[in-house]
Amino acid sequence: MPTKLDEARIQLARANRLIANEGVLDAFGHVTMRHPTDPGRFLMSRSRGPELVQPEDIHEFTLDSQIVTPIQERLYGERVIHGEIYKARPDVNAVCHHHAPSILPFCVSGMALKPVFHLGATMGPQVPFWDSRDDFGNTNLIVAKPEEGASLARALGPNWTVLMRRHGATVAGRSLQELAFRTIYTARNAAMQIQAHGLGHVSPLTAEETELAAAYNLQPGPVMRAWEYWSVRLDKVEGTSRPRRAKANRAAGKTRPAKGTKGTKRPRARRR
Ligand SMILES: [Zn+2]
Repeated sequence: MPTKLDEARIQLARANRLIANEGVLDAFGHVTMRHPTDPGRFLMSRSRGPELVQPEDIHEFTLDSQIVTPIQERLYGERVIHGEIYKARPDVNAVCHHHAPSILPFCVSGMALKPVFHLGATMGPQVPFWDSRDDFGNTNLIVAKPEEGASLARALGPNWTVLMRRHGATVAGRSLQELAFRTIYTARNAAMQIQAHGLGHVSPLTAEETELAAAYNLQPGPVMRAWEYWSVRLDKVEGTSRPRRAKANRAAGKTRPAKGTKGTKRPRARRR
């Protein structure tokens, strides 16, 4: 019988691969979640490309971003992004840090990222812009010191997305599924905002529309519909798609059917 922690590791590994499969994460970036039974800890992979993360790569960290049980493998350098946000925001249960190509032009130009279509409203009504030079002057732009993570968490404030000058974005969610929804659709919104500028004037959603559209799309129905869709797309890429078993496998957090399962072999079709 898998424990809540076992389930969380399976789902978190899946979230890393799923968001990577949608083109938001590449070799870099990371997705974490708060520990399912200990709010004073969070779960994070060892250092590797998010597309490769498996449940056994997931380890426990304190909110000071220290690993609970030391391992030989390398850890991510930017753990404090996550630890300091979990510390500052008890309502946040999942965090994604990424350098998506559609987001970077906003981090470079300083142009405000705005919701330009209904699903983009999930980025939140305000997307603050964090410039590490304000507190730390010239750095290598990597957020690795606790005070740097705390500064970023302050910039995020009560919002859900924060842009990082010349670096990327950090996104927060109340659940892994909400985080995936917000992260992916905010990256898509960024691409659309840039494309729309090429056509002329861009008018974003009003503040009230943003609030209403975000509330609608972050209901369990739309969030889980998108998670299922991205999950099946991931299964197809990973070669684990089993249409009739997919729902049960997802519910159980399985990515592959057990070997030697009876009744899964089909007779080979006769060629004519
Ligand atoms: Zn980064």
